[in-house]
Amino acid sequence: MTKSTGWNLDNSYQRLPGFFYSRVSPTAVKAPSLIRLNESLAKELGLNIEELRQSPDIFAGNQLPQGSIPIAQAYAGHQFANFTMLGDGRAILLGEQITPTKKRVDIQLKGSGKTPYSRGGDGRAALGPMLREYIMSEAMHGLKIPTNRSLAVATTGESVQREVDFPGAIVTRVSASHLRVGTFQYARQWGTSEDLQALADYAIDRHFPHIKEDDNRYLSLLKEVSKRQADLIAKWQLVGFIHGVMNTDNMTISGETIDYGPCAFLNTYDKSTVFSSIDIQGRYAYGNQPDIGGWNLARFAEAILILIDDDEQKAIPLAKAVIEEYVALYDQNYLNGMRKKLGIFNENEDDAVLIRRLLDLMEQHKADFTNTFRALTLDQFDNNIRLFQSKAFTQWYQQWQDRLEGQKKESKEQIQQLMRDHNPSIIPRNHRVEEAIEAAVNEGDYDVMDQLLAVLSNPYAYIADQEAYSIVPPDSDDNYQTFCGT
Ligand code: AMP
Ligand code: MG
Ligand code: MG
Repeated sequence: MTKSTGWNLDNSYQRLPGFFYSRVSPTAVKAPSLIRLNESLAKELGLNIEELRQSPDIFAGNQLPQGSIPIAQAYAGHQFANFTMLGDGRAILLGEQITPTKKRVDIQLKGSGKTPYSRGGDGRAALGPMLREYIMSEAMHGLKIPTNRSLAVATTGESVQREVDFPGAIVTRVSASHLRVGTFQYARQWGTSEDLQALADYAIDRHFPHIKEDDNRYLSLLKEVSKRQADLIAKWQLVGFIHGVMNTDNMTISGETIDYGPCAFLNTYDKSTVFSSIDIQGRYAYGNQPDIGGWNLARFAEAILILIDDDEQKAIPLAKAVIEEYVALYDQNYLNGMRKKLGIFNENEDDAVLIRRLLDLMEQHKADFTNTFRALTLDQFDNNIRLFQSKAFTQWYQQWQDRLEGQKKESKEQIQQLMRDHNPSIIPRNHRVEEAIEAAVNEGDYDVMDQLLAVLSNPYAYIADQEAYSIVPPDSDDNYQTFCGT
């Protein structure tokens, strides 16, 4: 590949002990075809779009970009609370692109063949789920939520065997890093204390260089990870995002959302909502996500405890305090986010009750989460909606108006703008996502997906002719299920 494509890859992960990765090349595929290229992301990365369009081989793993030394990363994780060895079973890190603004991001292929961590898996991925990942991660980016991104999707010309055969595909992902809680668990379980320390120092260098000189930089690391998670999960809750598989191997140190297998957005506000086909107990239900974040953080704390203090009796209370602080931080983020969704600029101790009452009413009347806040933002209420017919809502509405009128400094327009900025008019509705994937996979028609992506790139815009994207067919989610693998 010529330099003009703009690849500027480093491979800093390989300066960690060899214990953390395996050198492995992508397995070449029969007939690479680049079917989606994220042009605005490519530009941000400093890549030349015309050159990229001519190099489907790179996005299919048939050719390496200049400077790439491909590896699969080792990690462990608690999957539904069971600890196990994992690692990239179907993903390969090509390298870290240093962008024109000097950001360092992982460039990773998913579905590019077997690795030493594949166990029984084939290392491959099907087109439908890769398009789904592309749509969902780009939607999260549009919603201004920290996430890895999708740079490209390539088809392989091969089929993958599942219950039936599907067309194979590879998605190219871009992430701040792929350091996970599970990477630390792997080091703690099977590495030496030098390995663990090298990993922690690497994470600090890469994501939190400002804590390098702290008295106890590993305690600071725990605090930083806690902060990022408290921020991230509050953002999920505030838009109704259900990750679906919050295993510790899917929780990043950077605070980005990763692993878009079984995620989906809530329609009806119901804390027990689960879409993932394998989440039988509802461990990762919408309403459990904040607590699971704390649980995962506790696993992270356990993994780095010996770095915080080699005397466990001293380390434990320090770590416990951070985890307690996570709960407070999360609550604060969520409350402040909800205030913004309701146009509230300042703090009043009654706000939590006001918010709680609205959510209770939404739950009671099975109201659509996004569309309720959309209606409040537009101050337009459809009389066919049960919530809006209820007396209790009318009373709540009056209390809310009184609260807003008590804000003397901010104008009506400012209040409305705050609400628009924090209440998406459009989210990736499950039926829309499925419709886009079906058109692409079954008909080779990418227009539906492109239109959906265009709308999702600007979900706070409140554009009148995009209203159809906010309509939710009745009962459309009754049997909706999502999947981890395929
Ligand atoms: P995930 O549920 O996506 O976090 O994946 C859990 C683990 O299973 C990771 O180690 C994946 O790399 C691995 N895995 C999932 N699907 C496959 C596959 N088709 N081939 C090999 N490994 C896989
Ligand atoms: Mg994963
Ligand atoms: Mg996955």
